[in-house]
Amino acid sequence: MGGLDDLYQELILDHYRRPRHRGELADPTISVDQNNPLCGDQLHITVRLDGERIAELAHSGDGCSISQASASMMSDVVVGHTTDEALEMIEHFRQVMHREAQADEDRIGDAIALEGVNKYPVRIKCALLSWMALKDGLLTRQADRQEGR
Ligand code: ZN
Repeated sequence: MGGLDDLYQELILDHYRRPRHRGELADPTISVDQNNPLCGDQLHITVRLDGERIAELAHSGDGCSISQASASMMSDVVVGHTTDEALEMIEHFRQVMHREAQADEDRIGDAIALEGVNKYPVRIKCALLSWMALKDGLLTRQADRQEGR
């Protein structure tokens, strides 16, 4: 990953070594598992909603530094936001990873450091794993609610 900006490299390592929101919630509203067989990354995400707001989120699992750091960055930025806001952040990060948008720090926080990963096609799935897991979890719950489950 030598092409990444030094400052951003440090931020990625910092999130990898000291992951934010690491763990598992005891009584989650949403629980999702996602893995990336290409790299061996495994991720478990639990979310507690307060109405439509993400009150708490925790991630656990194992994987490469990019997948783990990304999960930490994603957790940091979505907690406290509504599920719709979180879905917008996820969509923005997806666009950044697919080079459809320039990273906007106001929308994805520290995950701006991952923008350079979009030059490494095999690592994009690592970076996106946690975001896509949360998206799955949020959309599944929205669909369940619409059906009155
Ligand atoms: Zn990975």
